[in-house]
Amino acid sequence: MSANASAPTVGILGGGQLARMMALAGLPLGLHFRVIDPHADACAAGLAPLRVAGFDDVAALAQFADGLAVATFDFENVPAASIEALATRVPVHPGSAALATAQDRLVEKTCFNRLGIPTPGFAAVDDRAGLDAALAELGAPAILKTRRFGYDGKGQFRLRSTADADAAWAALGAQADTVGLILEAFVPFQRELSVVAVRGRDGDFRCWPPTRNWHVDGVLSLSLAPARVAPEIEKQAIGYARALAEHLDYVGVFALELFEVDGRLLANEMAPRVHNSGHWTIEGAETSQFENHLRAVLGWPLGSTAARGMSCMLNFLGDMPDARALLAVPGAHWHDYGKPARAGRKIGHATLRADDAAPLADALEQAGKALGREAQVAPAISCLRAG
Ligand code: AMP
Repeated sequence: MSANASAPTVGILGGGQLARMMALAGLPLGLHFRVIDPHADACAAGLAPLRVAGFDDVAALAQFADGLAVATFDFENVPAASIEALATRVPVHPGSAALATAQDRLVEKTCFNRLGIPTPGFAAVDDRAGLDAALAELGAPAILKTRRFGYDGKGQFRLRSTADADAAWAALGAQADTVGLILEAFVPFQRELSVVAVRGRDGDFRCWPPTRNWHVDGVLSLSLAPARVAPEIEKQAIGYARALAEHLDYVGVFALELFEVDGRLLANEMAPRVHNSGHWTIEGAETSQFENHLRAVLGWPLGSTAARGMSCMLNFLGDMPDARALLAVPGAHWHDYGKPARAGRKIGHATLRADDAAPLADALEQAGKALGREAQVAPAISCLRAG
């Protein structure tokens, strides 16, 4: 398919649910899509032609680039070298500098601190003695993480005390020479927040209202937006996101994950792509993160990021409940990614949207009962009822 001004083709590296939701948002804009992914069953293939190839297959990437208006990705662990090779043929957004920063927790946290964005205490761990030194510096509890290729709580070991050092090393030590390790102070946060933001090719920066998130076993379970945070916290969160976007000359959507602890924010990590904590924007914002990402990478004007009332998104991991049970609840929206069920795998989500906190809490109560997921929605209901 050839690209032309009226019907540009967007190439996406990675064909998972994020690519699929990008295509769903882009089809009404008249866009065409192509995806490249190592897996033949990638779920975006239902909406866009899929090329099955590794992200390090430079010849396949060169063919893939042919006729694209722009390339982007739904997966941040694409090798930065592949992005650089692709960028010689077609514009790629976000660029390799942002990707390289976000791919390594040590580089990322160092970058945050240089920009005046506070983080939990951290130290590089290169060997077993380095773990003892980092523990002596940061104290316990702490979390040992892989620097690269960790996601959704994978590649992490929590140390309750220094006595857990041997167990932590047994779990992750073998990866010190391959993906590197970092020790982080454990933050007894009151809340987890994220800011999903977008920056256009012309530098136009916009931010959706901050989102409050709840994780279970390191994986996002529930998001509530707009988060009910103090105005100075919101201002600080948005200021950090803007500083990061401008420093990286970022183009597209990204998420900045933050811990709120004792009235201040500490940055955990950034995701250089559309993000699970921004799924509520599909129904809950004037323009969704997926649409604005496409507008940004194409150099088109960005849409408003204003919230439409309040929204709560719940993730489905492992198996999909019955859609019909939920669809009877006012303001309910269903998203089935069309992925085969597998334990722990993100295979869909639902968003509940209402004009205000009280009706959203009522809808969540109904949804919890309808799906048999009362425990999953309970934290958002308490937050909404607390005012
Ligand atoms: P991550 O993969 O770094 O996003 O971590 C997944 C989840 O683990 C986070 O969303 C937090 O719930 C928790 N977590 C990660 N790092 C820390 C930390 N330094 N202190 C407390 N909790 C953390």
